[in-house]
Amino acid sequence: MNRDILNALLVEYRLKREAAIKDAEKMRSDLIVSDDELFKLCDAQTELFFAHGFAQLNGNAPEQARLESEIDALENKINALQKEKNIYPDAIAPHFDCDACGDTGYINGQMCSCLKQKYIEALIERSGMKDTGESFETFNEQIIPKTPIGKTNQRQHTVKIKNVCKKYAESFPNTEKRNILLIGKTGLGKSFLLNSVAKEVLNNRYTVLKTTAYNMVDRLLASFKNQAKTNDKEQFFTADLLIIDDLGSEPFIKNVTVEHLFSIINERTANNMHTLYSTNLGLNELQERYGDRIFSRLTDQKSTYILELRGQDLRHQA
Ligand SMILES: [Zn+2]
Repeated sequence: MNRDILNALLVEYRLKREAAIKDAEKMRSDLIVSDDELFKLCDAQTELFFAHGFAQLNGNAPEQARLESEIDALENKINALQKEKNIYPDAIAPHFDCDACGDTGYINGQMCSCLKQKYIEALIERSGMKDTGESFETFNEQIIPKTPIGKTNQRQHTVKIKNVCKKYAESFPNTEKRNILLIGKTGLGKSFLLNSVAKEVLNNRYTVLKTTAYNMVDRLLASFKNQAKTNDKEQFFTADLLIIDDLGSEPFIKNVTVEHLFSIINERTANNMHTLYSTNLGLNELQERYGDRIFSRLTDQKSTYILELRGQDLRHQA
């Protein structure tokens, strides 16, 4: 659970709830004032409430009991009159967005589904993801050709990789391996798989941050120059799942890029956090670009699934 997001939502809920109650009270008092008969009864009841309070202060129990029964009798009259005039309690009750929880966000101490939904939406907004509609549910293997790849074919191979990703997302954060390195040329479905994993993990209410390697290094460089904006950097270390898309696309400044990248990979590894990388580069190119230190982290088989998509560009299929 992200405390900041939840607190902001709970403030929003409280304001919403208070506004609904205030509206209902205004509606009720407008109604009463507009109806002479009703107004008289309610006015008389208010008098009784005062008298009851006074009797209570004086410790006059018999008087208190007498007034209580009078208040109840008037209450019945008011209800009967309202019914006669087609004013039903529902009509003057507060109108909450969610009837189930009355806009409190909780039912018997459990998060109401309306709050869960809002929470997920807030997570998505923070994750930097747009809703692409891409998910494991919309994955369609029929569009993948059966181009032969060794003993298998592109469709079978892609489905196999999809299944590893799906299992990873569904069991998150209790995954067998913490990280995924998704390799493959553009147009083989890498983005689709990344978005599907992100969506599933978000739906299970974990924080996801999706960024391109380009954007990440750019922001790290900026926060390095401007120390005041350090919280911009913070998110790369705190998201439950960090997705670094398109590794290799970032500006390469000798030593600097590698150091920034290494600090993130290292810190996340040390904290047992999950990271998903995608790249168009092959393993040799990765090693060449980032050097042995990062390469060995990225390709550590104990902690990382290395999945390579292969075959024909899907964008030219139709
Ligand atoms: Zn609710």
